[in-house]
Amino acid sequence: MPTVIIVDKILTSSQPELLTSAAILIEENRITKIVTGKDVDELANYDTIDASHCIAIPGFVQTHIHLCQTLFRGMAENLLLLDWLQKRIFPFEAAHNAESMHASAMMGIAELIRSGTTTILDMGSVNHHEEVIRAIGETGFRAFTGKAMMDINGAFSKLKEPTEDSISSTIALAEKWHNSFDERVKYAPAPRFVLSCTDELMKEAFEITKQFDGMLYHTHASENYGEVNAVRERCKMDNVEFLNHLKVLSKNTVLAHCIHLNENEIQLMKQTKTSVAHCPSSNLKLGSGIANIPRYISEGITVSLAADGAPCNNNLNMFQEMRLAGLIQKPVHGPTSMPAKTVFEMATIGGAKALGLENEIGSIEVGKKADIVLLDLNNFWNPLIQDDADDLYTTIVYSAEPINVDSVMIDGKWVYRKKEFAGIDEELILSNARNELKKLLDRI
Ligand SMILES: [Zn+2]
Repeated sequence: MPTVIIVDKILTSSQPELLTSAAILIEENRITKIVTGKDVDELANYDTIDASHCIAIPGFVQTHIHLCQTLFRGMAENLLLLDWLQKRIFPFEAAHNAESMHASAMMGIAELIRSGTTTILDMGSVNHHEEVIRAIGETGFRAFTGKAMMDINGAFSKLKEPTEDSISSTIALAEKWHNSFDERVKYAPAPRFVLSCTDELMKEAFEITKQFDGMLYHTHASENYGEVNAVRERCKMDNVEFLNHLKVLSKNTVLAHCIHLNENEIQLMKQTKTSVAHCPSSNLKLGSGIANIPRYISEGITVSLAADGAPCNNNLNMFQEMRLAGLIQKPVHGPTSMPAKTVFEMATIGGAKALGLENEIGSIEVGKKADIVLLDLNNFWNPLIQDDADDLYTTIVYSAEPINVDSVMIDGKWVYRKKEFAGIDEELILSNARNELKKLLDRI
């Protein structure tokens, strides 16, 4: 049944940037018509949703999330990356069973949806990854996801696999789930980072990526000095230089963080069209550093945004990431750096581009999939919201919060409508999360 959404404004992440007094026609899962002014009356015969108090924006695309870690929020504080992993996150992840993994994913997805995120690139843990995939599929969410591949883990040996097992289980998951759930779920092989993978595993994961259409290669790189130094010691070169040596940089490769890159590495990112998933909250909270995002953008490198995992943030809310992505650069590069428009585009069409989905999602345009967020203009603490695109970018990037999210549509279906989940039982998700975390801690 076609649906028409009548809105006060649309911030499109395309051209023209701003439409006012508009209506969006959605047939099946796609946007088939957008009209403004008097032409809105043409669509009166359709099933109409009156959201004339709202601004429509494209759903946010977060390109680096760990749904498997959502249960561990607040349980890994005040640590640098390598201790954070070895002392907290690896033991927690190793204690997951199928039930706790499902509970963790459900809690993360619910938080992402109600704060306006419609698509993620997710890195799982080593085991029970099918539970994450099912949670994504069954909630109507959109994601690239892949189990973490690890065949080295010195200090915490429980969370790793023999190289062949990591490869064969990844291939089995990719064959079964890539393009599943009406193509909302796609697979992305995810070697965790250089320090937890042999050279063979890093390379084989990329070979898998090449065997499937539209698959991505997802890993962490150059997040922290301790990591960068350890990679240099083992590989005799810097992190991104080493990934280039392994021939795994490409337009289908998404590297999380990229904080500590040398000049040659910036050029390698550019030449290979490899994209950066920038995670400002996580980078601040783990004391990792501030990536030179204005420089990367000026070089033409695709930069997108993400919250990373709940225990290094401790939030999955894209409004927070947008705000910080703008703020943290200004003391370094000046107040005109990182304009709100640039940040908004990183959070929408930039994310879609990083995932190779820029022709499908990331903007509100005819022909694209209907991944739409409605923000309620009445509950902004801003008395002067004008019909001006720059003003709206600033309002959304610096003032908006999850409470402003009125409704969320993914693939033409409402998953959140008038601040209520459709098809997700919020109380059940929270009680399952509490119970499963308690049992998981008993297993450690
Ligand atoms: Zn991460």
